Amino acid sequence: NKNAELIKSVIADVPDFPVKGILFRDITPLLADNRLYRLASEMMAEPFRDRPIDYVACVESRGFIFGGLIAEHLGAGFIPIRKKGKLPRETVSEDYGLEYGKDTIEVHTDAFSKGKHVLIVDDLLATGGTVQAAAKLVERAGGVVSGMTFLIELSELNGKELISEYNYASVIKY
Ligand code: IMP
Repeated sequence: NKNAELIKSVIADVPDFPVKGILFRDITPLLADNRLYRLASEMMAEPFRDRPIDYVACVESRGFIFGGLIAEHLGAGFIPIRKKGKLPRETVSEDYGLEYGKDTIEVHTDAFSKGKHVLIVDDLLATGGTVQAAAKLVERAGGVVSGMTFLIELSELNGKELISEYNYASVIKY
C-alpha cells in the first residue's frame, strides 16, 4: 500500500534508545507533517468506521496524539488511560511489563457506562503488554472492547498472540 509506505518513509529509526539493544521507532517527523499525521490517524480509524464505537480509549502518552483525531473521525468520545497517580477521581489500575521496564496504568472507575463499545488506541504494538492491560482496565470499568488500533506493529515481538481474543488493526509493520 502506497500510503503506508509513505508513512513508513518518515518514521525515524533510532538505535539504542531508550536503552542499548532497542531500535526505537520515532514518529515525531510524521507528526510534524500535517498531511501525513492526518492520513495516519484516518488509516488507524478506517477499519472501525462501520462499527458502533462509543469511545476511543487511549494510552498515555503517544496514544493521545492519535486518539483525539480518531475520536473525531469516528464521532466517538475520548477516554484517557493514564499512568499511575494522574487521574483525579476513583480509578481501576493494572500493572504490566514493558519491552523495557514496568508500569501501572489507570482509568476512572466510572469512565464507561455498562456495555459501551470501546476502541483502544496506541501508537505502537510491541509485546502487547500495554494494550492487554488497557483492555483489562476497560473491561473492569464496564466497557466492551470492540477493537484495538495501532500505527505501528513490531511483528517479531508477537504482540498479536497476547491480544488474540480481540480485533486489532495496524497501519505499518516491521
Ligand atoms: P508493549 O507493551 O510491549 O506492546 O509496548 C508498547 C508500548 O511501548 C507503547 O505504548 C509504545 O508507545 C511503547 N513503545 C515500545 N517500543 C517503542 C518504539 O520503538 N517506539 C515508540 N514507542 C514504543
